Amino acid sequence: MIVFDLKCLAADHRFEGWFSSSEDYDRQRASGLLSCPVCGDTAVDKAVMAPAVAAKSNQRAPVVTRTAQPEGGPVVPMSAGNDNPRLQELMKALALAQAEVLKQSEWVGRGFADKARAMHYGEEDAKPIHGEVAAQEARNLIEEGIEVAPLLFPVVPPEAQN
Ligand SMILES: [Zn+2]
Repeated sequence: MIVFDLKCLAADHRFEGWFSSSEDYDRQRASGLLSCPVCGDTAVDKAVMAPAVAAKSNQRAPVVTRTAQPEGGPVVPMSAGNDNPRLQELMKALALAQAEVLKQSEWVGRGFADKARAMHYGEEDAKPIHGEVAAQEARNLIEEGIEVAPLLFPVVPPEAQN
């Protein structure tokens, strides 16, 4: 078995796919059997392994949101041992990268969906925001063509930090 990091072309959602071989991946992709677990888009491609971090503020502003997981809690790969030191290093690096991105982003809490729409339709200036949104609402935003992406790690709302 081999595992590929995949992404959907519609909204750049990242997910893992397991295949018996590289040819198996090509075949499934060509027959439209691969689809994004978030938005169901069947146009998927291999993702680069490094996390996509916008380093410069003049790059296209990413709209980042935490998708509320009905099951609760972050998703941890089943096969990943939590006592694996290399994995811990990696998770730490990813958490730091996310924190860097969020420094340039404004927390808008549950107003996320309204804010994202207002920016998308030009009622407000576009800027990086992050906040909370229900899974169904996130899907609605994506269907409207508004780019949202789930955060890898849960974010503690500023009002809950004391
Ligand atoms: Zn997707």
